[in-house]
Amino acid sequence: MVRTNDNILNIKEYVPSERVYNPNFKKLDWNECNIPINSKYLEILQNSIKNINLTEYPNVNNQFLIKKISLYCGVDSSNIQIFNGSDSALTYIFATFLNLDSRVLIFHPNYNQIESFIRLYTKYLSFSKIENIFSSHDYNLNDVKNCNVIYFSNPNNPTGYYLSNQIIEQLISNYPQKLFVVDEAYFEFARQTAIELIKKYDNLIIIRTFSKAFSMASIRLGYICAQESIISIINKIRNIKEVNSFAQVLAETALDNIDFIKERINVITFNREFFKKRLKSLSIPYTQSQANFLLIKMKNSLKFINECLNNHILVRDRNSIKGLENCVRITVGEIEDIKKILNIIKLQK
Ligand code: PMP
Repeated sequence: MVRTNDNILNIKEYVPSERVYNPNFKKLDWNECNIPINSKYLEILQNSIKNINLTEYPNVNNQFLIKKISLYCGVDSSNIQIFNGSDSALTYIFATFLNLDSRVLIFHPNYNQIESFIRLYTKYLSFSKIENIFSSHDYNLNDVKNCNVIYFSNPNNPTGYYLSNQIIEQLISNYPQKLFVVDEAYFEFARQTAIELIKKYDNLIIIRTFSKAFSMASIRLGYICAQESIISIINKIRNIKEVNSFAQVLAETALDNIDFIKERINVITFNREFFKKRLKSLSIPYTQSQANFLLIKMKNSLKFINECLNNHILVRDRNSIKGLENCVRITVGEIEDIKKILNIIKLQK
């Protein structure tokens, strides 16, 4: 057999939960924002891609899109770069900043697909854990001391907790030699962001995506916000044809029609709070999520998940993650879906 990258031998393939590709199933398992899209907005999106020239490569330096994203973020264009999903941004970040002896810290639990991206470069990956996620939000920040690169999602996937900007600033200012990679995939639902800090610190990268609040997981568009020095070093290896023409045009259209997106965010956050209230009255443990999903704890998660499946609803089993025994992550969808799920919960209490 040919020789592979030595580190790949110890990497376990990331296996996603099984997806049922049936339009009749409600997909509340992967945190997409799949409440129906307003028909007027859908028409605007569809019209915008009509004139794409299929034979041409995508624009490799779309400053119009970058400008629109920078205005949305409140930073300068030079602080933005776009990628084929935030997953791709993460792979470039680790390729750029990790060495064989780098020590990476992840606040656990977290978005675990990134583990294999990290292990390709270093075997020194450790986790900072919260003991009981239903009673505490607090990470052991001392764990940061011994690492070079720290990754966390904020709000966190799968708990939905938001680590305060005050703590983030304390960390990045105390450790100017360490790189902090803050994944804000769900920030729109929390209405909080640490993005202002990139103006002051060159050891912070914020990652964002069009897959969640923008409801466009299919187009694969993510972006990073950081100081120009960080963007230009990643640009050395970034594939310039990374983002396809459909993603570019649809993202521009979405940013031009931001009110439709804001309306969707309002619906999801309203439904999330409704869901929390009902879970509280049923005495079901749930996390105080600021994202578009809730993590709940059932007596028997497998039984609950199977009953959801019988009702054509997909939810995400988190039982196999240490500390999340019998936990299930549920994407917040339409009120009718939430009511159906609440009925299943009531029967299984
Ligand atoms: N970051 C987090 C925290 C996520 O939960 C996800 C998707 N579940 C991603 C990144 C991936 O986003 P994208 O679709 O932009 O690759």
